[in-house]
Amino acid sequence: KQHTLAVIKPDAMNQHGETILEEIRGSGFSVTQLKEMVLSREMAEEFYKEHREKPFFSQLVEFMCRGPCMMLVLTKENAVEEWRATMGPSDPDQAKTISPNSLRARFASDILQNSVHGSSNQQHAEEKIRFIFGDICAE
Ligand code: ATP
Ligand code: MG
Repeated sequence: KQHTLAVIKPDAMNQHGETILEEIRGSGFSVTQLKEMVLSREMAEEFYKEHREKPFFSQLVEFMCRGPCMMLVLTKENAVEEWRATMGPSDPDQAKTISPNSLRARFASDILQNSVHGSSNQQHAEEKIRFIFGDICAE
């Protein structure tokens, strides 16, 4: 089975955290690791380093540090792709049209505050899991 890193972002933690967790479990993912944490600016910059050159990078870092995040390792057959599908597209307007049951269609406020993160490929998944949790998911 495959692992992916999921994050419940600060915008969703107060209002929708529990619902999202229930949804995750109900969709057949095993929650292999879970921890709540407030990212430092440095951690958020490292976490999203692939986006360093994007015009929205500083907004993104600030948003991710704004409050607690829930960090999760999800395990399932084809977990990376399945979790991306469960989240829906980054932009909630697009999500509402093409994937109305997705988490972002239901919970995201806008393209920045879009409630959840998921690794975009297996290599990122391994790298980000190691960054957040250390070497626990080695195999
Ligand atoms: P994530 O990496 O968080 O799972 P994603 O892969 O759907 O989201 P990316 O393109 O990797 O989207 O962007 C990372 C995050 O940066 C988005 O989830 C969102 O929070 C923010 N973001 C993306 N595009 C924009 C934008 N145009 N304006 C503001 N914020 C944005
Ligand atoms: Mg991404």
